[in-house]
Amino acid sequence: RSNYTVMSAVRSEPTSTCSVLTKFQKDCATPIPFLRNVADAISDDMRAGLAVEGGGDLDMILTFVDALPSGNEEGLFYALDLGGTNFRVRSVQLGGKEERVVANESEQFSIPHELMVGTSEELFGFIASKLADFVAKEKPGRFRLEQGRKREIGFTFSFPVKQTSIDSGTLIKWTKGFNVSGMEGKNVVACLNKAMEAHRLDMRVSALVNDGVGTLAGARYWDEDVMVGVILGTGTNACYVEQKNAIPKLQSKFSSGTTIINTEWGGFSKILPRTIFDQEMDEESLNPGEHCHQFLYCFFTVWVWIKLYEKMISGMYLGEIVRRVLLQMCETSDLFGQFVPVKLSTPFALRTEDLCKMQEDNTDDLVTVGSFLHNFLEVEANLKARRRVVEVCDTVVQRGGRLAGAGIVAILEKIEKDTDRMASGQRTVVAMDGALYEKYPQYRRYMQDALVELLGHHLSSHVAIKHTKDVSGLGAALLAATNSIY
Ligand code: BGC
Ligand code: MG
Repeated sequence: RSNYTVMSAVRSEPTSTCSVLTKFQKDCATPIPFLRNVADAISDDMRAGLAVEGGGDLDMILTFVDALPSGNEEGLFYALDLGGTNFRVRSVQLGGKEERVVANESEQFSIPHELMVGTSEELFGFIASKLADFVAKEKPGRFRLEQGRKREIGFTFSFPVKQTSIDSGTLIKWTKGFNVSGMEGKNVVACLNKAMEAHRLDMRVSALVNDGVGTLAGARYWDEDVMVGVILGTGTNACYVEQKNAIPKLQSKFSSGTTIINTEWGGFSKILPRTIFDQEMDEESLNPGEHCHQFLYCFFTVWVWIKLYEKMISGMYLGEIVRRVLLQMCETSDLFGQFVPVKLSTPFALRTEDLCKMQEDNTDDLVTVGSFLHNFLEVEANLKARRRVVEVCDTVVQRGGRLAGAGIVAILEKIEKDTDRMASGQRTVVAMDGALYEKYPQYRRYMQDALVELLGHHLSSHVAIKHTKDVSGLGAALLAATNSIY
């Protein structure tokens, strides 16, 4: 904790907004040589995690998905999607290679906040009741369940899960503001089954998948060059096609072929440019780095950062980091005169969407920024203050986008080492989903620039980043079909 005190002391010295900003920009800098080190460190941790369980910051989870959709899948399958602020139910009638998706229906519900921090019975009870309503409303003409079959579900559960088979796995840790009690270490599918039984719902989970895996599978259904699925939304993750013989922890001498790895890259925490603001946010978040692990003999206490990468690059946190910087600028100097807006002291009050709105303002005197600050903080910000606010947003978003680019490069280079596909001119597609990527053009640009700068023009000209919105549900339904018990 000594680090923390020193930094707090520095923090309370009187400074100017300009020097706070300059220092922050310097601390967040991501020049190419540094990004190169980040990409290499992520690759190292990928290899370490493939070698042994817990070998590196990345879990490198075995997903038990060895076969990706071929297009031949047929029949009626369902998808459940739980992982962010919304919960979705979907039915898909698959018609094989020619007809593909014959019919599909979906419904979305927002998850009441109390359910995100309540009990597992409440959360899964809610899910099962929505699912029961959905099935009850089904129009039989368009959806045909084959005689003698149960309705099978692909369950997209967007949290780190230790898979025990394709259709079961235990929750490792909640992320993204979820904190349902007593679920860590429990079988997620068993929780859902219990709730479905209570609702007299005779359905079966045939595939339990991460949203990154669902995205990869759904995108692959339409495009055979898809090798990676990346999520940049509330949280972040990447899943990719790996050669089985490059996974020592499989401990099988005769493994050939490929399998999907869920990297859980949000857990990467080494060498990242963390500032006092990242540190304070981590301390106060629902799932902070497990601090003060007692080392041998309790002589030293150290910080073990958890999910620091996710906290620097994903949508849940970018606005919050900016809020913290602005608050300090108000407290230690005079960003908005003598006035410290009350709203700036509320955690997570500033959302990543708000940053985007401000960054998109291209009027000379930043009219949109001015009116946003007026509405949101009740301050009249002069042009200099508006510019500073935008610069803080840009600093955080630039760091996030560029670090995300470095992660994608780490994965592409890992694939390239084993397959040489890009060097031999083969197109390689990264399927991308998530609201941050979709709705934040500046973030997207920073990510893309970093990717090209790191990979070089030759290799990157064979890479396509393809926005595949909402395909994870289709992917999960397809994997339920592939792994059907019938
Ligand atoms: C979770 C991942 C998930 C990602 C994107 C992260 O917080 O740990 O499992 O894929 O968010 O939803
Ligand atoms: Mg999602």
